[in-house]
Amino acid sequence: VKEAERRWSWVQIDLSAVRHNLREARRLVPRTTRVLAVVKADAYGHGAVRVAQTALAAGADHLGVATVSEGVQLRRAGITAPILVLSQPPATSIELLLAYQVTPSVYDAQFAVAYGEAADAHGMRAPFHLAVNSGMNRIGVRHDEVGAFMMQVGFHRALRLEGVFTHFATADTPDPFEFDVQAGRFEEAVATLRGMGVDPGIVHAANSAATVRYPGVHYDMVRWGICLYGFHPCPETRQRADLRPVMSVHARITDARLVPMSEGVSYGFNYRSPGSVKICTVPIGYADGLARGLSGRIDFLVQGRRFHQVGNICMDQCMFEADMRTFATRQRIEPQVGDEVIIVGSQGDQAVTIDDMAAKLGTISYEVAIGFSHRMPRYFV
Ligand code: PLP
Repeated sequence: VKEAERRWSWVQIDLSAVRHNLREARRLVPRTTRVLAVVKADAYGHGAVRVAQTALAAGADHLGVATVSEGVQLRRAGITAPILVLSQPPATSIELLLAYQVTPSVYDAQFAVAYGEAADAHGMRAPFHLAVNSGMNRIGVRHDEVGAFMMQVGFHRALRLEGVFTHFATADTPDPFEFDVQAGRFEEAVATLRGMGVDPGIVHAANSAATVRYPGVHYDMVRWGICLYGFHPCPETRQRADLRPVMSVHARITDARLVPMSEGVSYGFNYRSPGSVKICTVPIGYADGLARGLSGRIDFLVQGRRFHQVGNICMDQCMFEADMRTFATRQRIEPQVGDEVIIVGSQGDQAVTIDDMAAKLGTISYEVAIGFSHRMPRYFV
């Protein structure tokens, strides 16, 4: 990564890992089942356009975004695959949806009619996916009201039901009971549509965890999100899916100094040097997404060895302890200004992971990955 060598902190995206992880979805589902690559939130912080292009080339059929502008960004990059907005956008975005052929999720009759009328005025069709609330209570038409909903909007000649979907609240928790309740309600809703003579189109429900754990809900399409990025949504997926991490975070040492015994380091002096210690500074802080709550709780890698981050993580920088005493019996390593530091990633037999950071912060990998800000450039390899 030549350009990266001129940077002091950056995020590296391994597109071969994206390809591998997409093929894992393909391996897990029947040949006829489509794979929708979820690339919302800038592909979970990884870079939407490059990830989408790579996933499509590796066999994805469909893309999922959260907002219309995320869909428009993909279209402007020349992507022609079907794009689904995973919630119902505001009515003010209807013209954009039509102009860029981005498909909305729909659950409100007023929106559906406005969308249908706008399409009609342009002599166009208005494809949509019906969102069904099977129990998560976030979005969607209640599972037992889909018949009434379709009676309300079905008359509109431009509207086209292209798909029906739901979302599971507990696909990644150990007990399958609530999951089964949701799956049962969703299947009833789809049966209701069929009973009315309505073709439901593409039936889909499974997120990553459900795709790996519950083959019974693959239906016509699965929505492959967190696993595309190499993270396991829960321990249960580890035996069944082989995933490779896509994102790594790197920085270069900008300062290295010998700090005498019991002097403080960083704001508040929460850390004091236990002896004469070499302290190195790296230009990554909480403005870059390295959460301040991780202060003093994580390690970095230099030349395949672990070093403790010490002192409070600042907005733009943080420090680590490069104390040679801990390596007295091993090969001596002297981190120096300009040396590369792995903040997230692996080197030799050592790894520092987003999963570990998420566990320490009491959150999930999704939030930590998305948090690495765009102040750090993304480099694709
Ligand atoms: N489908 C919907 C509707 C979503 O909101 C999401 C993400 O939250 C996904 C699929 C992908 O979920 P995951 O990243 O757990 O695979």
